[in-house]
Amino acid sequence: MRPNWNVFKLLCPTPASYDKVDPMKLIFLGPPGAGKGTLALRVAPLLNVPHISTGAIFRAAMAAGSPLGRKVKAIIDSGALVDDETTIALVQERLADLSAQNGYILDGFPRTIMQAEALDAFAVIDKTVNFDIPDADVVTRLSGRLVCRKCGFNWHKSFNPPKNGSACDTCGGEVYTRDDDKPEAIIKRLEVYRTQTAPLIDHYRNKGILVDIDARPAVESVLAEFKRVLKLP
Ligand SMILES: [Zn+2]
Repeated sequence: MRPNWNVFKLLCPTPASYDKVDPMKLIFLGPPGAGKGTLALRVAPLLNVPHISTGAIFRAAMAAGSPLGRKVKAIIDSGALVDDETTIALVQERLADLSAQNGYILDGFPRTIMQAEALDAFAVIDKTVNFDIPDADVVTRLSGRLVCRKCGFNWHKSFNPPKNGSACDTCGGEVYTRDDDKPEAIIKRLEVYRTQTAPLIDHYRNKGILVDIDARPAVESVLAEFKRVLKLP
């Protein structure tokens, strides 16, 4: 089930002090398993900006059935990766939306130097946050991940196991290891990240907008560190 963000916002209103924070256009950069998505879900309501992941953009475009959406669906259905050109066009369309005019968090984009250079042409990014974590920690995190088939919650075999072993504590659904969380797939994802995406660290460092965050600790500590380096209240 998808979370209802309106209810979430009522439960977790933006603290008054954050009204004084300037709008922020952020990129979250880091290998799979670094916790970018988890932190983005925590930070986006605080900054009152949308969390924009390419996965969500692809799903929305497919649901809308636009010409680009039909193209993405054909690519994904064939099992191929969505090409740079299509991804860039969709991101550009998403960033032009009214809801993104007061800032955003880009998660999973840009993924290649070509995408970063395209983004430079249509967006002025304030900060790129580099979630730093060694490969060995990524393997431990991802290979232990258990996803609930019903509610999508992420458990972990060692760090946060469901009490009932193979069933989700929250909804009773079956928990399983995703195919891309199997060790050989993780190694492959890390290789792709190190060769295609890690060069973006220098791209943004050279622009003077990169901040590094140690992504190894638990999410609460990473959140505290994020607020400290971005000088948030
Ligand atoms: Zn569940």
